[in-house]
Amino acid sequence: MTTETDATSLLAAFNCRDNIHLVIGTNPLAASRCGQSLKAGARPILIAPETAELHYGLAKRIEAGEVTWHKKEFHDNDLLTLGREEVDGVVDAVFVTSGPRDPLSSHISSLCKRNRIPVNVVDAPHLCTFSLLSTHTDGPLQIGVTTNGRGCKLASRIRRDVAASLPPNLGVACARLGQLRRRIQQEDRVALTGAASAQTQAETGSYDADDGDHEDADDSVDQSASFNRLVTEDDADAAKTRRIRWLSQVCEYWPLKRLAAISDEDVEAVLRSYPTPDAHDSALSHIAPASPSPHPSPLLSSSSASASPFSPSRPKCGLIILAGSGPGHPDLLTRATHKAIQSADLILADKLVPSAVLDLVPRRTQVRIARKFPGNADAAQEELHAAALAAARDQGQVVVRLKQGDPFLYGRGGEEVAYFRANGVPADRIVVLPGLTSALCAPLFAGVPATMRDVADQVLVCTGTGKKGRAPDPPGYRAARTAVFLMALHRIEGLVEELTSHVEREGHKDEERVLWPRDTPCAVVERASCPDQRVIRTTLGFVAQAIEAEGSRPPGLLIVGRACEALFTPEKGRMWTVEEGFRGLDVWEEVVLPA
Ligand code: SAH
Repeated sequence: MTTETDATSLLAAFNCRDNIHLVIGTNPLAASRCGQSLKAGARPILIAPETAELHYGLAKRIEAGEVTWHKKEFHDNDLLTLGREEVDGVVDAVFVTSGPRDPLSSHISSLCKRNRIPVNVVDAPHLCTFSLLSTHTDGPLQIGVTTNGRGCKLASRIRRDVAASLPPNLGVACARLGQLRRRIQQEDRVALTGAASAQTQAETGSYDADDGDHEDADDSVDQSASFNRLVTEDDADAAKTRRIRWLSQVCEYWPLKRLAAISDEDVEAVLRSYPTPDAHDSALSHIAPASPSPHPSPLLSSSSASASPFSPSRPKCGLIILAGSGPGHPDLLTRATHKAIQSADLILADKLVPSAVLDLVPRRTQVRIARKFPGNADAAQEELHAAALAAARDQGQVVVRLKQGDPFLYGRGGEEVAYFRANGVPADRIVVLPGLTSALCAPLFAGVPATMRDVADQVLVCTGTGKKGRAPDPPGYRAARTAVFLMALHRIEGLVEELTSHVEREGHKDEERVLWPRDTPCAVVERASCPDQRVIRTTLGFVAQAIEAEGSRPPGLLIVGRACEALFTPEKGRMWTVEEGFRGLDVWEEVVLPA
């Protein structure tokens, strides 16, 4: 149970449009409360006797007709009569600005509490049923900070630092992405429900916000566990949701700086990425121009380059460097990869390469991020190939293919080298640089020693997803084996089933394989080495339920084996525990870089 001291507040965003807020007092704080109330679309009413000395800010607002002044002393009945007709005259919230020593403050507070009217009394947490946050507002984006009474100056400092760390124009980007999301939903609905009703809607502009998915209404919903569900290229049912899922992935994976700079061109590219299911027949097809080819097309964040034909006049072949960028934290780059980033003419980055790494790219260097999204991995890969060939082979440039983790570990690095060789890039013009793989870093940063004497003597790195989305052969159990599964969390239930029972696969039941006990310890490590790293410790029996409950924060992997409990003792009776945040390198920095 949460104790009094560690209890936090329920943070919520209230829709106050046309609400009536009572403000008691005439000091500068009363003026500021009126301002906050007005910004939220509410109608503040000030209660103060005619003789009161008004703060000039208040006087100005009253004069402008924004604040209504009832020139009188407060009367208990005001709470129940000055409100909106719709709620029988009860006011929607009360701000008392005269402080805790004024006897009226505690009187109004208890009256409000009795009548379930939200009340805020300045400097008197015990008299408040709500407090205001220190807020940063940028267009539709609002960020609020509270220290829960530990210090408003501190909250404001933290809020300023959080705001300063955000790229400029993020508010504009939120608005733009919000519009894009609505437009995709509308177009998909049009294509699915038929042109006729859609046309009426379009003409009257009457799209029912309630009709779409409800994610918009509540920001507390993290990515669902199925966010990363695999969509194969011929999965017709999923086609209609592809663009919206692509948009979710853009929001999840693009560096914030890149998101903040999203342009009309990007928006058009997202819209064209997949035609709506029946775009050709749709009455509104003109707002969603169907891609001329049946294949999804723009996969790169700037206009895609095409491989120009091999011509005798082309310059000497440049260089293609496949460089591993490590699991996420920029300090985990190798010096070789760092040098490659510094010397590149063009960087083609995987979508998983985090922004902290992309921040190291010199400003002059062109960067493109793969628009890989569910169901188009192959097409995204082809487009990257074409861009790399055009720049290196045809224009003599240094191209860095920045890949997450290690390029040869489930990064399609091998296929890329083979492709470049087969397409006229001499072998000595292709360089592969290793990277720290998430398969080994994630266990380490989660405090799981992949091998340890008397615990585990081998590590098996596997994938949870085979070619075309098929499940690969599951590995057998050995007590001293640590198995690490990449690309597995989206089908965790299936994987657990395969590991713990003899499921029939392609008409064959592999009875020989030793099954993993359901109480085998395991850990889900997400965004290892990133500031929002999360570790869920549990057992095979509960891991699917844990992921379902906690949602997903890609990329993540699964570690299975008793090594997961070598340095961690689970609490009796707890099905899983969640650890938030990454401190792996901070501690070290504190020692070597004393303030
Ligand atoms: N070449 C990469 C792996 C690419 S496959 C490497 O060596 O790390 C992509 C998978 O890697 C993801 O599905 C996820 O399982 C895993 N992964 C990549 N980065 C990760 C990270 N920071 N934390 C946890 N898992 C990660």
